[in-house]
Amino acid sequence: MKEETMDPIPMVDLQAELNLLRNPILEMITEVLDSGNYVLGKKGETLEKLVADYVGAKHALGVANGTDALVLALKALDIGSGDEVITTPFTFFATAEAIAEVGARPVFIDIEADTYNLDPSKIEAAITPKTKAIIVVHLYGKAANMKEILSLARKYNLRIIEDACQAIGTEFEGKRVGAIGDIGCFSFFPSKNLGAFGDAGLVTTNQKTLHDTMLKLRNHGSDKKYHHSLIGMNSRLDEMQAAILLVKLYYLDIFLHKRKEVARRYTESLPEFLRKPNVSSSREHTFHQYCIELDERDKLAAELDKNHIASAVYYPKPLHVQEAFRYLNYKKGDFPIAERAASRILALPIYPMMTYEQQDYIILTIKKFLEGEKDK
Ligand SMILES: *Cc1c(COP(=O)(O)O)cnc(C)c1O
Repeated sequence: MKEETMDPIPMVDLQAELNLLRNPILEMITEVLDSGNYVLGKKGETLEKLVADYVGAKHALGVANGTDALVLALKALDIGSGDEVITTPFTFFATAEAIAEVGARPVFIDIEADTYNLDPSKIEAAITPKTKAIIVVHLYGKAANMKEILSLARKYNLRIIEDACQAIGTEFEGKRVGAIGDIGCFSFFPSKNLGAFGDAGLVTTNQKTLHDTMLKLRNHGSDKKYHHSLIGMNSRLDEMQAAILLVKLYYLDIFLHKRKEVARRYTESLPEFLRKPNVSSSREHTFHQYCIELDERDKLAAELDKNHIASAVYYPKPLHVQEAFRYLNYKKGDFPIAERAASRILALPIYPMMTYEQQDYIILTIKKFLEGEKDK
């Protein structure tokens, strides 16, 4: 009998997507090369229009990456030195880094245990006269509670930036995230649900004045060559990435659908006692990550690794205990729900091209591990 061997299973299989899309992508890249226009051009403009339509926002602007999208959003809202911005400590570093980058102070609040998004019931206590905005993160592709957050923002006259870097296409009560707050920020880093083959990002807004300001800010504060009305930055989208993204955008809904299908199979097959992603119709989940929670997280990760299955911890260290934020004077214990999640969470491989065979093997390996643990 032939020995069955399975190739190692990665967290995300970009190669498989490339194999599917190689020809249209090569055609698009050739068009860009022949156009002689490489930064801010036709492809970028088309992408902006299509993503704005997709998200349901009036305006979209391509930028260099998701981190810059956040920085541009903060700058456009005139947030800087002396201001405070409320956000979650359980996110990728860039969310809070952007706040610090513009000279403002990140103010963390704890998260909802079941969704990992910031807990609206903790916002009010964190508001001071210096609070200018909230950066809400739709972590792992799960929509945050925008209804509560919007109503608090109205009550206290705060601006809302949505960090939708992991959540393109996610709906909150039928509206896509990124078009709900004042500004939406997206990343097209290769491993994101809509990924370029390099760095890329985008901002969305429904407000023309914010759009006009960001249009200048991303290009040295200028909308007319060599006339600079603002201090801006160089954060433009290049045509090559825009062209690649145009091809991938066409497949986005199919890919998101596949992710949800993989997630559904995990949730159905894995045992009840594991904490699994929260799914609800009003707050959608598009599964940039599929995370489970368990005490024996590190042991399971080691077991998966032994069986050539990747897994990852997003994120092992909450932001309030990061060395770079020591000056904020937070300490361990300040945000127990985020800290508990950080010590127990494990992301399983999930990507549109995952086969049933691969997934069944992952599920079987996890089940065997859990059975073994139970017998101890
Ligand atoms: C990826 C990511 C970013 C940063 O995007 P880059 O394109 O890598 O700069 C910001 N916030 C979150 C939540 C992210 O996942």
